[in-house]
Amino acid sequence: MPSDANLFSKDYAEARYRFRTAAMAANCQLECHAIDAKAPDGGELTIDVACWDGPGLPERVMIVTSGLHGTEGLFGSAVQLAWLRTEGKSWRPPAGVRLVMAHALNPYGFAWRRRWDENSIDLNRNYLVDRSFLTTDANYAQSRQVYTSLDPFLNPPSPPSRFEPYAFNALRTILASGREARRQLPTDRRPLFVDIRAQFGLGLRRLRTSLPVGQYEHPQGLFFGGHGPAQTTRILQSRLPEWVGSASFAVHIDLHTGLGRRADYKLLLDTGPGTETARWSAKCFGVDVVEPVGGETAYAARGSIGQYFQSVLKDCRYRYLCAEFGTYSPMRVLGALRAENRAHHHGRNTGRSYEWTKRNVVEVFCPTSPAWRATVLNKGLEVLRQAFAVTTSATASDP
Ligand SMILES: [Zn+2]
Repeated sequence: MPSDANLFSKDYAEARYRFRTAAMAANCQLECHAIDAKAPDGGELTIDVACWDGPGLPERVMIVTSGLHGTEGLFGSAVQLAWLRTEGKSWRPPAGVRLVMAHALNPYGFAWRRRWDENSIDLNRNYLVDRSFLTTDANYAQSRQVYTSLDPFLNPPSPPSRFEPYAFNALRTILASGREARRQLPTDRRPLFVDIRAQFGLGLRRLRTSLPVGQYEHPQGLFFGGHGPAQTTRILQSRLPEWVGSASFAVHIDLHTGLGRRADYKLLLDTGPGTETARWSAKCFGVDVVEPVGGETAYAARGSIGQYFQSVLKDCRYRYLCAEFGTYSPMRVLGALRAENRAHHHGRNTGRSYEWTKRNVVEVFCPTSPAWRATVLNKGLEVLRQAFAVTTSATASDP
C-alpha cells in the first residue's frame, strides 16, 4: 500500500537494501557508485541508480533523485520505494522514454543522520560552474557579511546542550540582525527604534534572504558550499551526460523536506516568475504548487544541482522541480541543524547529547507522525505520477 508507513526505512542501510531489491524486481539496470567514506558501522556507502529504457533511443528522460541533503533521504527513499512497489512493478517505459531513479545522492549524510556530506558540505550549494561571484558579486558580499555576523550564534565551537535557551538566543539574534538592517536603511524609511516588531521583521527577512544563499568561508558552519566539487558531485557530473544522452526533453524531480507548510509541498523552480519554465511547470503541475524564485518558500541558492544540470544540458529542454515537503517551523529546523552540527564537530559521539541531536535532526526532516508520513507519501507519489504523465506524453512535453 502506498500510504504504508513501513515504507519509511529506519536508516540508510535498510533504505539502500530495499531500494536495490525493489528496483531489481522491477527489471531495471542498476548502477552502484561507492564513495570514499564509511557508515557509522563501517558499512559501504553508495549512490544507487536504477535505469529503465523504452524501445529505441531515449528522446525524453525523467529523473527522480533523493537524499541530496542526507537525512532528508528517509522521505525521498520512501517515495521512490512506494512507486517501485506499486506502479513500478509492472511499468515499462514507452518507446523513446528513459527513467533514471537515483537513490541517496548524499549517502554519508543519510547514514550519519546529517544534512551535509562527509566534508560538511551542503551539496545543493556545491554544483558551481563559476566561482568568480565569491569575489566580484555585491549581493554575495552582502549575504556573506550577514552570515559572518550570525556565525557566533549559528556555529558555536562547543558541544550542544539541551538546556540552552535556544529560542531566546535565536530571537535575540534576529532582533540584533534587524537593528543592523534598520541602520542600513535611509533615515526616512527606518522604523522607530522602539518598534520591536518592525525590526524583528527586518531581521527575519535578512535571515531568509542570506542563509539559504550558502557560504564558502566557514568549512564547519551551516550551509557551507565547499571549496571545490565534492566527490558525490563529481560522480553525478560524470554520469549525467550518459543518463540524458541525446534526449531533447528531461523532467527532474528532486525530493526534499524541511521547508514550507507541514505535510504540504511546493515545487520550487530555479527560475523567476514569467519564464517559459515557470509557465510550463504551472500548466503541468498546478499554479498553486509551483513556486518560482522569489516566492514564499523558494530561495535564491547558488550551486544548486538544478542550475548545474541546466547549464550542461544545453541541447535539452531540462525542467528541474525541487519538491519540498514541509515538516516543522524554520526556527525548529534551524535549531536542530545547529545542535547536530555542534555535536558532530565538537561533541563525543558516545555522549547522550550527540544521540539526542541526531534523533532531533531526523525528526525535523522526516517526522515520525503516521499522519505526516501517510500524507506526504501520497502527495509525493502524485507528483511522480504527474511527472511521468508529462514526460511520457509527447504532446505534453511539446513547448
Ligand atoms: Zn533539502
